[in-house]
Amino acid sequence: MAMTAKFVEDAGDDRLGQLTDALFHRTGVDGVYARTGLYEGVVEALAALISTYRPKGAEVLRFPPVMSRRHLEKHGYLKSFPNLLGCVSCLGGTEREIRAVVDRFENGGEWTEDLGAADLVLSPAACYPVYPLVAERGPVATGGLVFDVASDCFRREPSTDIDRFQSFRMREYVCIGSPAEIQDFREQWIVRAKGLADRLGLTYRVELASDPFFGRGGQLVAISQIQQSLKFELLVPVRSEEEPTACMSFNYHRDHFGHTWDLKTEDGEFAHTGCVAFGMDRLAVALFATHGIDIEAWPQDVRDALRV
Ligand code: AMP
Ligand code: ZN
Repeated sequence: MAMTAKFVEDAGDDRLGQLTDALFHRTGVDGVYARTGLYEGVVEALAALISTYRPKGAEVLRFPPVMSRRHLEKHGYLKSFPNLLGCVSCLGGTEREIRAVVDRFENGGEWTEDLGAADLVLSPAACYPVYPLVAERGPVATGGLVFDVASDCFRREPSTDIDRFQSFRMREYVCIGSPAEIQDFREQWIVRAKGLADRLGLTYRVELASDPFFGRGGQLVAISQIQQSLKFELLVPVRSEEEPTACMSFNYHRDHFGHTWDLKTEDGEFAHTGCVAFGMDRLAVALFATHGIDIEAWPQDVRDALRV
């Protein structure tokens, strides 16, 4: 579907403010919201619709919002996105030591300076925990493996924009196998995702993209990522047509996770991996931004697809 004039028409009004009020309750922290029933109903409907696209034979795994800190360190996240990472920290020590910290807080002091990093980080993407888990099982058979994963994700990017959260839901289909299997998977998914966006009545375009790698060195990595066509995004105008929002991404990691986890295919080569990621919260916001907050007034075919 081509980009429409709807967003231009609506520009200038408080469309996004009204949308935020209808979908969320503010919590006092930017990018962290309580979600209304209206909104959550659409997130659930989207999840069910995406499940109907689950690849045959996919293994379903649902991860908690935290993952092993060691695993994330090993796969190089700190080098690429140290600014986005959240680490769980807790009070440790004896009962006496912990009580002393709490007492200090009760008396108007700080308690957080005594926190120590736990062996957990907040998961920044839903697919990261799957690679070490699969590596433990031994070589990947010809034909490859597919997973259906999801988790709540955290990225330290506080913002008042309606499409940028610190805490958000991510669903992914992940493929592990030979380079050709991953390329195939990704190409098929770009086509399928466009079909899905059509059914949702969203206006979109799919573009080559890069991740926001940290610092000046990161810019070179991002350029190389674009040159190798490792990432595409499906973009939907939510805030504006000029700055559309990435609602899905199609990623080819080459053998990065294969190397990191010594994850191999049956022929002894390092496995290649790829994933298609659905930003559940961004897709839901995009639906409301496109069709309005009155679901009964949404186009009938969109309501039929979502069963709402
Ligand atoms: P990425 O790994 O950056 O490609 O993220 C996968 C998908 O998660 C993106 O296409 C977005 O739809 C979604 N996403 C990423 N960051 C955020 C965020 N800060 N808020 C909401 N959704 C996000
Ligand atoms: Zn992924």
